[in-house]
Amino acid sequence: MAIIITDECINCGACEPECPNNAIYEGGAEWRYADGTGVKGNYTGKNSGVEVSVEDPQTPKSMDVYFIVSDKCTECVGFHDEPQCAAVCPVDCCIKDVDVVETNEQLLEKKASLHI
Ligand code: SF4
Repeated sequence: MAIIITDECINCGACEPECPNNAIYEGGAEWRYADGTGVKGNYTGKNSGVEVSVEDPQTPKSMDVYFIVSDKCTECVGFHDEPQCAAVCPVDCCIKDVDVVETNEQLLEKKASLHI
């Protein structure tokens, strides 16, 4: 599963720098696949299935609180023993997204595709 941030987020910003995939953005921020990854040209999101130019700005997933891009979230698999956002969040609002279920193998594949 990917991780999501609930609307209980207090916008402290502690999680953003901890993400090894640069999958976390402040509410209202445009995001790019190229941010903090090694992807070039076009990339097809492993979760969304949508192909876009990696440099194109994408629509924020939330306007009010920090958000996590599922296509970039590997639950820190391949980097750390546990999701770092959840580890540092002071209000425990980084939780598993039950709508985005992925195996360890799929998360490792996603990581490999983002960090080439
Ligand atoms: Fe929001 Fe938690 Fe991230 Fe702080 S650490 S910005 S409360 S999700």
